[in-house]
Amino acid sequence: MTTMNANVPTIPVAAPPKARTTRTAPSFEIRAIAPDVLERLRVGDDAGRVREIFADPEGGAPLRCCLRRSRAGERIMLVSYAPLRAWALERGVDPGAYDEVGPVFVHGDPCGGPEGGGYPVGLHGSLRVLRAYDARGRIRGGVTVELPVERAGEVDGLLAEVFADPGVALVHVRAVVFGCFLAEARPLR
Ligand SMILES: [Zn+2]
Repeated sequence: MTTMNANVPTIPVAAPPKARTTRTAPSFEIRAIAPDVLERLRVGDDAGRVREIFADPEGGAPLRCCLRRSRAGERIMLVSYAPLRAWALERGVDPGAYDEVGPVFVHGDPCGGPEGGGYPVGLHGSLRVLRAYDARGRIRGGVTVELPVERAGEVDGLLAEVFADPGVALVHVRAVVFGCFLAEARPLR
């Protein structure tokens, strides 16, 4: 049995932090291609070419500007993009030979960007890789993901595991078969 002693100063207990919008805040953020980079790619892509805008005949093209698939008739273009280059420039690092260029679909005109955060379920497919890079832009490793689309939300947990390694500075979500870049994840540290 304990008794309170009035002479003992009370130690204030810190109030628990206010709950955020989600109970477990994600340790990373998903990014589409940034608006300023898109602007540049639309007039001259990372292969030094000017690409044509076309009306998507059927829809379904994975758009890296809005992280969703295109709808039939939307004005889109296929450009060459160096996803590591833009990130490395921002950080002042040289990714060396790891810099690579690949094809990505983007809207042909300025667009609103993605709605909401988290793993881009709209771009999910049969086999994906979460490719991790270190702070210098060197490939550090990767995890392959093969989940049906109704379980694609589970990739958030896998991304959190990848970012549990403090050496991971960047993750590319990529399609394995096509090898193409889908989205970027950065740690919130
Ligand atoms: Zn877009």
